[in-house]
Amino acid sequence: MRERKPTSNSLARLKEQLGQISDLSNVASLLNWDQQVNMPPGGSEARAHHLSTVESLEHTLFVADETGQLLEEAAEEVISLPYESDDASLVRVAQREYEKMRRVPESLVTERAQATSRAFDAWQKARAESDFESFEPHLERVLELTIQYAEAIGYDEERYDALLDRYEPEMKTSQLIAVFEELKSGLIPLVEAITKQGQRIDDSLFKRRYPDQAQWDFGTLILEDIGFDFEHGRQDRSTHPFTASFSPLDVRLTTRVKPDRFQSALFGTIHEGGHALYDQGIHPDLIRTPLCTGASYGVHESQSRLWENLIARSRAFWSHYLPVLREFFPDQLTDVDVDTFYRAINRVQPSLIRVEADEVTYSLHIFLRFELEQALLNDELDVAHLPDAWNAKMEKYLGVVPPDDARGVLQDVHWSGGLFGYFPSYALGNLLAAQFYDKAFAEMPALPNQIGAGDLGPLLTWLREHIHQHGKKFTPAELVKRVTDEKMTAESFLTYLREKYSQIYELDTSR
Ligand code: ZN
Repeated sequence: MRERKPTSNSLARLKEQLGQISDLSNVASLLNWDQQVNMPPGGSEARAHHLSTVESLEHTLFVADETGQLLEEAAEEVISLPYESDDASLVRVAQREYEKMRRVPESLVTERAQATSRAFDAWQKARAESDFESFEPHLERVLELTIQYAEAIGYDEERYDALLDRYEPEMKTSQLIAVFEELKSGLIPLVEAITKQGQRIDDSLFKRRYPDQAQWDFGTLILEDIGFDFEHGRQDRSTHPFTASFSPLDVRLTTRVKPDRFQSALFGTIHEGGHALYDQGIHPDLIRTPLCTGASYGVHESQSRLWENLIARSRAFWSHYLPVLREFFPDQLTDVDVDTFYRAINRVQPSLIRVEADEVTYSLHIFLRFELEQALLNDELDVAHLPDAWNAKMEKYLGVVPPDDARGVLQDVHWSGGLFGYFPSYALGNLLAAQFYDKAFAEMPALPNQIGAGDLGPLLTWLREHIHQHGKKFTPAELVKRVTDEKMTAESFLTYLREKYSQIYELDTSR
């Protein structure tokens, strides 16, 4: 056994190099945050230059020969360290990413950046005018370059693997399909049972107007209660809510507040709050390293959905918070009791728009997108036939057909940005939220009572210890195994949905 000091020269130099790369990445993220929160419309051209320069510096520095050299030497230095040590994890994760990125030719990186930037503008216009044809050539080009990217990265089983890996490190498409099939077989009968039951849930309370400021203030109170640290973060307004982290010590989230869209700010704030808690909970030792982020997009989404759905759409939560909410909106909510409120926020309704979907039908929107992406990537579907294929799958999975492409195939920004392989993470987030919650509950049987008393601290402490602090040290599969001692599975999520919605919709579950 060789004994080495944990830090010697190459490792220290590698850390400095990766530290600079991480700084550039966080600067880009700050520029992007500013663009969406503060920037006047006239600033967009200058901002595009700023971002492109910073991002290209980051990329060049990362794929430099020197980084590879330092990684090789540092790998030798950490060889005797435990797998989960910070340094061994740093080298392992960075090396894997480095080898992948080195396979992508510089010219392809530039071409993709240009094509996606043009496609984004075309998509915005096409969506506004519900005109798929004007977007079609742009999407074709982006798809072509995405296929080239996947071929450059390489894969063991199928092309989609190379794309999925960006969002869910080391997950194979075949594994994803297995989990999705499990989910599908439980979800489709449940949605059918709910729709057949045909019960009308009274959600007229959402037709009332809720003043902006009171919505903002209640959101702030909830963020404080779930443990968001305003010393190390802030909330702002933006058109599309999102969370950006420049360091665990400076995490920004945004929300969207409208008097006639009460649910949007309420649950949007808690959703982004869940992301932000994850980012704030990463161990400070991982700052300025590539480990200072979530394990995967799906794991990140599990944290937002856990707070948004499993906690903030539970009866226990509102038995405590509805009286508080009523103080903010006495005129709107005096006649609303916990039962009415709970049922209204959990109404299930197959619908056209993914981002407005309830937690039961949400994953159906993802199956559709995942299947279309696979067909496009495997040359089984032309871009020209995409709207028809979209509408057919909407009919199959959700029983509704979009009246136009704006509310259909043009609704999401992702494909214009070449983000094929991203959508599955949203559905995985639902599954993992339930799996993590089950484990937390098994270890802390008092959890529902604590939630019912507005005591949300113990859950956050548990999430910090088991998930947040590790950042990106583990792959999603490794993390799930460590936390739950299971593989990724749809079982917890399906059980959660069945129990909750059988009660709300008075379904006969004896069959
Ligand atoms: Zn999210």
